[in-house]
Amino acid sequence: MTEARDDFTLLWLQAGSCGGCTMATLERGASGWFEELRGFGIRLLWHPSVSEETGEEARAILARIERGEEKLGALCIEGSILHGPEGTGLFNKLSGTGRSMLDWARALAPRADYCVAVGSCAAFGGVPAGAPDPTDASGLQYSGVDMGGALGPDYRSVKGLPVVNVSGCAPHPGWIMETLLALSLGRFTQADMDDYGRPRIFADHLAHHGCSRNEFYEFKASAEDFSERGCLMEHLGCKATQAVGDCNQRGWNGGGSCTQAGSTCIACTSPSFEATRGFHRTPKIGGIPVGLPLDMPKAWFVALAALSKSATPKRVRENARSDHIARAPTPGTEKKKT
Ligand code: SF4
Ligand code: SF4
Repeated sequence: MTEARDDFTLLWLQAGSCGGCTMATLERGASGWFEELRGFGIRLLWHPSVSEETGEEARAILARIERGEEKLGALCIEGSILHGPEGTGLFNKLSGTGRSMLDWARALAPRADYCVAVGSCAAFGGVPAGAPDPTDASGLQYSGVDMGGALGPDYRSVKGLPVVNVSGCAPHPGWIMETLLALSLGRFTQADMDDYGRPRIFADHLAHHGCSRNEFYEFKASAEDFSERGCLMEHLGCKATQAVGDCNQRGWNGGGSCTQAGSTCIACTSPSFEATRGFHRTPKIGGIPVGLPLDMPKAWFVALAALSKSATPKRVRENARSDHIARAPTPGTEKKKT
């Protein structure tokens, strides 16, 4: 734990958001978010959901930051920036200010040492940007996979960084807080971000790494229905081999992950994940999944999958199609029965 310094300030704003990123953040730690902020030496200037200040008091905080009278360490924005109608941004005003979130984002981001997009909506546009998108939603510095967004491709914060994209729908609270801690310590550089501006704290992993279904994956022993124990990639749409995140290596809400809960990974950390149709179905061509793992060449995967399928132990094959352990790993049984 660092010494409490209270010299790194944080302003959190919500744009086109469901509030899920805030909910995720509040899950943080046994002692709670506020205690953790205090421990990290981060002073929360204002958050629309949890701060006492409202109305005039809140507007005064924003005005002080805008005029440069209050130093801003991190500007965290949760939710997509809505550009509609016709580029005015007026679909989403910051209550009581008469100004759009598009306007506020553009006014405050240049004042911040660092600008942090919390969640895939703020990073890339996210769910509000899904077709047909009458709101004309974008992320802060991306629209899907394309750079640009509300702040433009050339935006750099006071400390010279582009927007830090803590993507995820919602992101793990650890991703948010570890990023803020690294920023507050001045130890976060461009080299700590991947090609989409995502902190490598979590983006150097694939969501697939550490999944409890990995044995089934290795043998391509697949579930065909939900509640079965097998790998969810071949039939049920799991994209964890193509999505960044250490989701299966650290617990969510004290333990668990999407795949552990029996659902598939829908690649929520990726730009344009919302464009997928049929999240729980694996698109295939000629019986081969279209989206293949990021971490190996396609030809290897196809060859290895065929090989491993032919070598699948009976135990693994049976358990993959069962909702409980149908066959235990008893030594010798495999040999006798094959
Ligand atoms: S269910 Fe998904 S995350 Fe788990 S092993 Fe299969 S592909 Fe990987
Ligand atoms: S497992 Fe996939 S869908 Fe779930 S949080 Fe991680 S990246 Fe998002």
